[in-house]
Amino acid sequence: MTATSTIRILAADDEEMMRNLYRQVLDKHSGDMHGPYELVLCDQGEAAVAIAREAAAEGDAFAIAFLDVRMPPGRGGLWAAEELRALSAATQIVMVTGYSDVDPENIEQRVPPSDRLLYIQKPVHPFEIRQFASTLAARWRMERRIQEIQQGFERLVEERTAALQKAYAELEYRATHDELTGLPNRTTVIEALSKELSRSGRSGRSVAVVMVDIDHFKSINDAHGHLAGDTVLKAIAERMRHLLRPYDTIGRFGGEEFLLVIPECGREDALLVAERLRAGVADQAITLEGRTLSVTLSVGVAWADDARHQGIDTLVAAADQALYRAKEEGRNRVRPHAPG
Ligand SMILES: [Mg+2]
Repeated sequence: MTATSTIRILAADDEEMMRNLYRQVLDKHSGDMHGPYELVLCDQGEAAVAIAREAAAEGDAFAIAFLDVRMPPGRGGLWAAEELRALSAATQIVMVTGYSDVDPENIEQRVPPSDRLLYIQKPVHPFEIRQFASTLAARWRMERRIQEIQQGFERLVEERTAALQKAYAELEYRATHDELTGLPNRTTVIEALSKELSRSGRSGRSVAVVMVDIDHFKSINDAHGHLAGDTVLKAIAERMRHLLRPYDTIGRFGGEEFLLVIPECGREDALLVAERLRAGVADQAITLEGRTLSVTLSVGVAWADDARHQGIDTLVAAADQALYRAKEEGRNRVRPHAPG
């Protein structure tokens, strides 16, 4: 149903003379500037409702319905008007009657809204039918046009909003992740640690942090080039991600250093997780342009049993201290360090 389609008109009257009048005046070739019209005629209220129901089911409601108030022997136009209104709020209904005992106000109350219910008294001049049809057709078209513009506008707003949301999500991702490895960046992993510390401060459960460093990374870069170094970083990040649980956060802390935050985890469990990372990387060589390269990790573990007394800096410094020990004692190993 668009602003430019044919105007569909339903007209119900038990008098043949009236039906002929509708036919003559609302002929689709009538040349009315608000046409063309498609006229459907019937002589009973029940028939009018059946036709309107079918039209509504097809999603093509009548723009205008002329309904005679009395159409014996069946139910009259007022009943039909109520039914039509229930089928479509948009249909403009014109009640037509030759009986002076029908109170227009009563009709208006029974078939709201009042601006979509008009009233003509018989005898009707053909020109009146023409004027009603023309005016109501013009209004129908204008309403459809407004609807189209509004829908077009809503679509545009939806598209723009979706594009903005996508751009925002990309920006947010870039601000919170490391571009090379796709892992959370330093800011994000520190935020995760801060969140875990305040949560464990409330629950009394411990938090562990693990500092991971790739052994001899500089010599990998020197021997194979920086692109090879990037490949190694990506491969190790990917392998560590697979070795962890979804609620552990591992981020790239800087250079070849990674920081892991493990919620609800004490010393022993943290050492097990750290050892799993170390072994998972050391046990399987990395393939680099057809060659294999053995890479190892040094890992430092720190933990906070009572998070209320442990700040981020203390905990990270302790993990750093442990990492230093692992390096000192020959690399490719895990070492703990109690904070404070
Ligand atoms: Mg009648």
